[in-house]
Amino acid sequence: MAANDVYWWEAAPIASPPQKPVDPTCDVVIVGAGYTGLSAAITLARAGRSVQVFDRQRPGEGASTRNGGIASGNLRPSSGELAKTFGEERARAIEAEARTAREDLARFIAEEEIDCDFALVGRFAGASAAGDYEGLAREAERLAKTGIEAHAVPKSEQRGYLGTDYYHGGSVRMDIGGLHPAKFHAGMLRVALAAGVVVHGETGVLSFRQEGDGYRVETSRGVVTARDLIVGTNGYGDRFDRWLRRRMVPVRSRIVATAPLSPNLMATLMPRRMMCAETRRLHYYYRPSPDGTRILFGGRDGTIAGDPSWPAENLRRAMVDVFPELDGTEITHTWFGHVAMNRDMIPRIFSREGMRYAAGYCGSGVVWARWAGRKAALQVLGQEDGRSALDFRPPPAVPLFNGTAWFMPAVFAWMTTMDRIDAWRGRR
Ligand SMILES: Cc1cc2nc3c(=O)[nH]c(=O)nc-3n(C[C@H](O)[C@H](O)[C@H](O)COP(=O)(O)OP(=O)(O)OC[C@H]3O[C@@H](n4cnc5c(N)ncnc54)[C@H](O)[C@@H]3O)c2cc1C
Repeated sequence: MAANDVYWWEAAPIASPPQKPVDPTCDVVIVGAGYTGLSAAITLARAGRSVQVFDRQRPGEGASTRNGGIASGNLRPSSGELAKTFGEERARAIEAEARTAREDLARFIAEEEIDCDFALVGRFAGASAAGDYEGLAREAERLAKTGIEAHAVPKSEQRGYLGTDYYHGGSVRMDIGGLHPAKFHAGMLRVALAAGVVVHGETGVLSFRQEGDGYRVETSRGVVTARDLIVGTNGYGDRFDRWLRRRMVPVRSRIVATAPLSPNLMATLMPRRMMCAETRRLHYYYRPSPDGTRILFGGRDGTIAGDPSWPAENLRRAMVDVFPELDGTEITHTWFGHVAMNRDMIPRIFSREGMRYAAGYCGSGVVWARWAGRKAALQVLGQEDGRSALDFRPPPAVPLFNGTAWFMPAVFAWMTTMDRIDAWRGRR
C-alpha cells in the first residue's frame, strides 16, 4: 500500500497547463484552482472579465481531485439545529439552496459535457445506533414531503441496499449521486481554459494589499494589479492570508481503496451501487469506484503532520467492521487531503475589505464549492442572482488557533472513545 497514492489520479492525472507569463494587470485574480476557484473563473470569463487563477500546487492538487466524489451538498447541522441557529426562514432558504445547488451541478455537467462518471445513484445512510433509526426515518419522511425521493429502510430490508448487518436500518435519498472527482476537476479546467481563463499552476500568491480601487497581488512569478480578488483556498489556506487562517480549520480526511473485488462480492456488498454514510460521531463515508470494481472507504484521518500508516489501518478496520468479507483484502491506495471547518459548520460566502471568500464546506464541497465559487463571481459582477443563503458575515476566529489544528488529534481521540463507549453500551 503506497502512502498518499491517489486512486483518482490513475484515470485523470493532474498537471499544470503550459506555463504562461504572469500578466501584470487583469480584472480579477483568483487564489486557488480547485472547484471554487475554477467555478468563479468560468463565470467571470464568460461575462467578459480577464481572469488569472493562481495555485501554489498543480491545479486540483488540493481537495478537489482527492475527495470521495459524493455529490451530496450535505449540511452538517440538522434541520432543527439550522433553525435554532439561523431562524426558521434562513434555515429553509439554506436547505432550498442545497437542493438548487445539487440540481445545478447535474445541469452544469450535462451542459458542459463533462465526462466524469456522474450518476444519481442515491445515498444510503446507516443507523449506527438502534436509537438513530427513528431520526433517519423521520428525516426521510420530511424530505419526501418536500418532493425529494426518500424513504426509511428497516433493518429487515437493509441487505437489499447494502450487504451488511452492521447498521440498525437506515434511510435512502435519491437526490444524491457520485462522480469521479478528478475527471470532474479536469472537465472544469478544460471549460475554464476554453473560456479564456489563464490558470497559473505551481505559482503561489505570497501577499496582497489594497491599492487604489483594486489590489496589488504578489505571486511567486510576478506582481499583478487587479480590480477584484476572490479567495478559494478552503482547507489549504497558508500565510498569505493570516486573517483567514484563524477562521478556517483544516482537517485531514483520508480514503482507502481496495484491490478489485469479484463481481459477485461487489453485487453482494453494494447491490445498488449507492453512496454511503452513517450516523456515528466519527462517521465514515464510502462508495463503489465508478467502474463498480472496488470499495473506496473514507473518514477522518486524526493526524496533523507527517504520513503515519495507522490512519489507513484504522480505516481498513472500520471497513471490515461493516463488511467482514473484506478482512484480508488488499488495500491498494490510500491518501488524504484537507477539508475546512468553521465554527458554524456551514459553507459560506463572505467579504472582507471588498475581497470575496467562498469556503468552509465541511467535507461537502463537490456540490457546494462549485456553487459558492459561482455565486462569489456573480457578486463581483454585481448581479442580483449572486445573492445566496450562504452570504454570512466572516466566520469568527477560532480561539487559540493560528492555522495549525493542534487540537484535532485530541478531538479525534475523544470522538473515537465516545463512539467506543456508545458501542459498548449498545447505543452505537
Ligand atoms: C479525502 C477527502 C474526501 C472528501 N470527500 C468528499 C465527498 O465525498 N463529497 C464532497 O462533497 N466533498 C468531499 N470532500 C471535500 C471537497 O473535496 C472540498 O470541499 C472541495 O474540493 C473544496 O474545493 P476548493 O476549490 O474550495 O478547495 P481545494 O480543492 O482544496 O483547492 C484549494 C487550493 O488553494 C490552493 N492555495 C492555497 N493557498 C494558496 C496560495 N497562497 N496561493 C495559491 N494557491 C493557494 C491550494 O494549493 C489548493 O489547490 C472531501 C475532501 C477530502 C480531502
